[in-house]
Amino acid sequence: MNYYEPLLLTPGPTPVPNEINHAMALPMVGHRSLDFEAIAKEAFANLKPIFGTNNDVMILTSSGTSVLEASMLNIVNPDDHFVIIVSGAFGNRFKQIAETYYQNVHVYDVEWGKAVDVEEFTTYLSSLEHKITAVFTQFCETSTAVLHPVAQLGKAIKEVDETIYYVVDGVSCIGAVDVDLERDNIDVLVSGSQKALMLPPGLAFVAYNHRALQRFKEVTTPRFYLNLNKYHDSLQQNTTPFTPNVGLFRAVNAYADLVKYEGFANTISRHCTIRDALRVALSALDLELLVEDAYASPTVTAFIPRDKEELNHIKSTLKSQFNITIAGGQGKLKGTILRIGHMGKVSPFDILAVVTALEIILSDYRKVNYIGKATSKYTEVIYHDASNISI
Ligand SMILES: *Cc1c(COP(=O)(O)O)cnc(C)c1O
Repeated sequence: MNYYEPLLLTPGPTPVPNEINHAMALPMVGHRSLDFEAIAKEAFANLKPIFGTNNDVMILTSSGTSVLEASMLNIVNPDDHFVIIVSGAFGNRFKQIAETYYQNVHVYDVEWGKAVDVEEFTTYLSSLEHKITAVFTQFCETSTAVLHPVAQLGKAIKEVDETIYYVVDGVSCIGAVDVDLERDNIDVLVSGSQKALMLPPGLAFVAYNHRALQRFKEVTTPRFYLNLNKYHDSLQQNTTPFTPNVGLFRAVNAYADLVKYEGFANTISRHCTIRDALRVALSALDLELLVEDAYASPTVTAFIPRDKEELNHIKSTLKSQFNITIAGGQGKLKGTILRIGHMGKVSPFDILAVVTALEIILSDYRKVNYIGKATSKYTEVIYHDASNISI
């Protein structure tokens, strides 16, 4: 028997709280019933504070990528020029979607591991000769663990041209960050269920402002399942255009109850405290961090082992000896970095477990005594911020 409970520390999917699993296990109801309407109505409204919007949030039964695609097809007309910020694998995904449908895609590359420099981006945007319809960016670029300065970027984009639509992929951080569509100048904010929202995979979300909603109606780009007008029309009737994942809709409401219980501000600060503690701990293990402090995501942390052998040893031993799963790099960072997800249902002690395991693994592998070195640093940060962490 393996006495180690599995600890899933990938940046999605993330562990699912029992309360959510229980909600999913309730008997099925018909999706064209008053039962479902009550569930859906609550779910659309429950997500508003999490996404920082006054509008009900649209819910699609599909993975996160579907709303990356939907956000483009419902904002950009076939001949429009628009900009994709690419700072990692998910920026690349936006780019691939764009190049599948459109000719006039302008790619703004950011070095992987760095955040977009708002001033440099503004200069670039102003220099483009075509009228630009929209700018697409990640909020947290999950593949590099960077949190982009989304609010500053929004302000800067609107200063260049207030008619540009600003579309943000928040799949790996919504639920763990403070966001406000109006304050941050975001027109469309999309996310998925299986990351900081601590739900199983299978739902995707679209938050939008009034202007974006108007635009969805005018855009002529062909789309069917991803036509957001259908979702909005249905939402107003407390339903969905196609058969929804009913269990996951119930799970959204169970999730909202958990956030209300903790207090959303506390949820956010718990993520920050864990990030700060983990970063100090990894440094104490002589592991280089990929991202500088100012842009480190509260939901995922990337570090650079000394070489490929050490990287593979850490990842495989965490799993085989301690039943802990972390993630490798993606795209050009594959084989260079490891990533620890710490979003959703994650307590300081969950991450203490991975820090302890890393002390043991690296002491053994490098023949350096790290025992107590990282855990003490980690615990000091948690102790210092303890008032942020409620139970
Ligand atoms: C995970 C992720 C996606 C893709 O979501 P899927 O559910 O795998 O389709 C898109 N963007 C970001 C930032 C992500 O982290």
